[in-house]
Amino acid sequence: MYYDENTIIFLDGKWIRASEARTGMYNQTMHYGNGVFEGIRAYQNADGCNVFKAKEHFERLQYSATKMHIDLPYSIDELINISYELLDKNDLKDAYIRPLVYLGANMSLLPTDEVHVLMAAWKWEKLLGEEPLKVMVSSYQRPNPRSCHVEAKVVGHYTNSILATAEAKKLGYDEALLLDIHGNVAEGSGANFFYEKEGILYTPPAGNILPGITRATIMDLAKDLGIHVTERQFTIEEVYNADNAFFAGTAAEIAPIESINGEKFKGSWQESAGHSLYLMYRQKVQYNEYQGLTIV
Ligand code: PMP
Repeated sequence: MYYDENTIIFLDGKWIRASEARTGMYNQTMHYGNGVFEGIRAYQNADGCNVFKAKEHFERLQYSATKMHIDLPYSIDELINISYELLDKNDLKDAYIRPLVYLGANMSLLPTDEVHVLMAAWKWEKLLGEEPLKVMVSSYQRPNPRSCHVEAKVVGHYTNSILATAEAKKLGYDEALLLDIHGNVAEGSGANFFYEKEGILYTPPAGNILPGITRATIMDLAKDLGIHVTERQFTIEEVYNADNAFFAGTAAEIAPIESINGEKFKGSWQESAGHSLYLMYRQKVQYNEYQGLTIV
C-alpha cells in the first residue's frame, strides 16, 4: 500500500528503493519513541503540483527536533526541495509526504548524535474517509503538557492516538475525540477539532493540542470569509449543543462529524460554515506557494 518495487525514498542524502532500505535494530526511535515526523500533502494543479504549506511543515519538523534534542542536518529550503524531488522521482502529484527523523543505536536515555532523515511519499485518500463521522469521547486523555511537548510531532506521542482510535473502532465508532487533563475538549487522535454554534466556530487554544497547520489555515480562511473563530477552552457538554462539528488535519483534511457518543448534530453540514471553509480549503491547497520549485 505504501510502496512497491519501483518506489524511491530519500534516506540520508541518497535516493534509494524503498524495498532496499535498511535500518538498525538498536535505534533509539524504535525502542523509546524519540523521533520526530511530519505529515504533508501535495496537490496536483495546472502547473504540476503544490506541496501545501511545505515551509510551515518543515519549520514544525525543525521545532519538534529541537524540543527532542535532535539536530536536523538539513535546512528548511533543502527539505522543501527534497519533497518536490521525491514527488518527481515517484511520478506523484496528489500525494502524502512523510518525513521522519529517527535516531541511531542508543539504548541509554540520553540524546544521540546519529540522526537519520527519511522522506517517503504515497497516494493516500482522506484519512477518515468521505462520510460524516461517528465519534466517541475517548476514555484516554491527551498527554499532560508537563509530561512531554504536546505541541511537537514526536513519534512516541502517537501511542496515545493509537489507543484512542483503537478503542473507538472497537466500540463501533469511526474516530475518537480526546479531552485534556482538565476534562476540556482537546482534539482528535490525528486532527484538530472545531464546532460551530450559531455561525461562530470554536476551537481549543494551544496548550493541550498539536496546533495544526490545517487549523491555522482554517482560521485564516474564516477571516477571509468573515466567519468568526473563537479559541477557548470548552467542555463536551457545550459540544453537544453545537450545530455542527468537524476535524481538521493534513491527512484528514476537513472531516465532518455526524455525532458524538451517539448525539447527532442538528445543523445541516451542507449549509454550515465548516462546509464553506472546506470548499475554500480545496481551492487553497492547489495554489502554488513555491512557484520556482513547482515541478511541471
Ligand atoms: N493533532 C494531532 C494529534 C495530529 O496528529 C495532527 C496531524 N498532524 C493534527 C492535530 C493536525 O495537524 P496538521 O493540520 O498540521 O496536519
